[in-house]
Amino acid sequence: MALFEFVHIPEKNIFYDVIGTNPFCMFFAGIHGHEGGVYRPLKNILNNLPSNFFSRIELLKANPPSLKLGVRGVENRDINRDFCEKTKNKSWISKEIMELIDLYPSIEYVFSFHEETDKEGYREGKMAEIETFERDPNSFYMYDAFNSDESSTDEIMPFYYPLCLSLIENGFTLYDGYDDYKDDPHETVQLNPVTNGYCKQPSNKTGFEDGSFENWVITQGMKRSFVFEIPSGITKERKQEMVKIIFQKFIIPFLNQFKTF
Ligand SMILES: [Zn+2]
Repeated sequence: MALFEFVHIPEKNIFYDVIGTNPFCMFFAGIHGHEGGVYRPLKNILNNLPSNFFSRIELLKANPPSLKLGVRGVENRDINRDFCEKTKNKSWISKEIMELIDLYPSIEYVFSFHEETDKEGYREGKMAEIETFERDPNSFYMYDAFNSDESSTDEIMPFYYPLCLSLIENGFTLYDGYDDYKDDPHETVQLNPVTNGYCKQPSNKTGFEDGSFENWVITQGMKRSFVFEIPSGITKERKQEMVKIIFQKFIIPFLNQFKTF
């Protein structure tokens, strides 16, 4: 179902703001049109950042026609599988996003927000088969995509542990299991193992093309890209709380390492 705030948006362009010069990072949301519930909580936080915060691009309505309809992708097409050299007949949406990234080579980090809409979780059963279980509707997880020639997960744990603690203190849980499972060999984003809410995605500039924007940016030379999966079934107040914790405990401390002012 479409959210009211997207009903009247023009659908022929992607929407983004450039804040400051030489953007250092990018905030990204709305590539899946049925995950629009994270837009408002995210926008509220971004609107209240101090004026000297890092220069950035905010692309929060990445897929306007799907947001308007409240569907993952128009005509069942997942735009977040387009970001791959192999993908032919890319949609205008992914082409515009790729052009935008080309225009701003100063971006080093992406913070992407999705919503997890799946009520089921996935794990390995006793016979090594994939079994499903009821996913805790309060559970959080994130992906950490990075260039494995230059970096590792060690650099992230000092930020990740405080995030976990704060989420748990505030009544959220950490997802354990596979991110997704579909009985479809063409689906490239599935069976990624998530442990205590964390899923690493090491790659290098030539590899890891699962078609997602977040992994593609690493092949374009960005340093790191994070995907935060907000549970879609919680209230908007709880979404706001979770996004606030993600900023306070993870994004802001992470970025502050690079502060030069
Ligand atoms: Zn998504």
